[in-house]
Amino acid sequence: MEHRSFGRLNRKVSALGFGCMRLPTLGKYNEMDEPAAIEMIRYAIDNGVNYLDSAHGYHGGHSERLIAKALDGGCRTPCPSGVAIPKNFQLLNHARVHGGSVAVLNRNLYAQMPKEKRADSCVACGKCEERCPQHIKIGDWLASVHAAMTER
Ligand code: SF4
Repeated sequence: MEHRSFGRLNRKVSALGFGCMRLPTLGKYNEMDEPAAIEMIRYAIDNGVNYLDSAHGYHGGHSERLIAKALDGGCRTPCPSGVAIPKNFQLLNHARVHGGSVAVLNRNLYAQMPKEKRADSCVACGKCEERCPQHIKIGDWLASVHAAMTER
């Protein structure tokens, strides 16, 4: 898979994205064929795709939940120090995408997380990065999450 720098950020994003608006169904748009959809998403990730496109409205809200299931046990392998890696990124993403009162809400949710789960509890051991199939610099990103979620 070819990866390219994304905008002004020094992040490598796959040239091909995986659209999650038309995942396999059991006939109706909101009835997912979960095993088939999860297999497709994992196949894409295992072959270098690190950009999944989804939105809350896709498949009546099931698309995002299905992505979470597909990532469970892979990219969501727990941090040995207890940092809730996906949750930290989710809060930042929601804050940036929606802004305004949603950003305030997500900053408050971040502040209320148990300390050991927050991004600033990352000790940069690199264990999650060793397992990451996309070689994402998770420790660096978590530092950015903490800075963004606590900026005034
Ligand atoms: S680098 Fe940070 S988030 Fe990753 S496993 Fe180590 S402590 Fe956990």
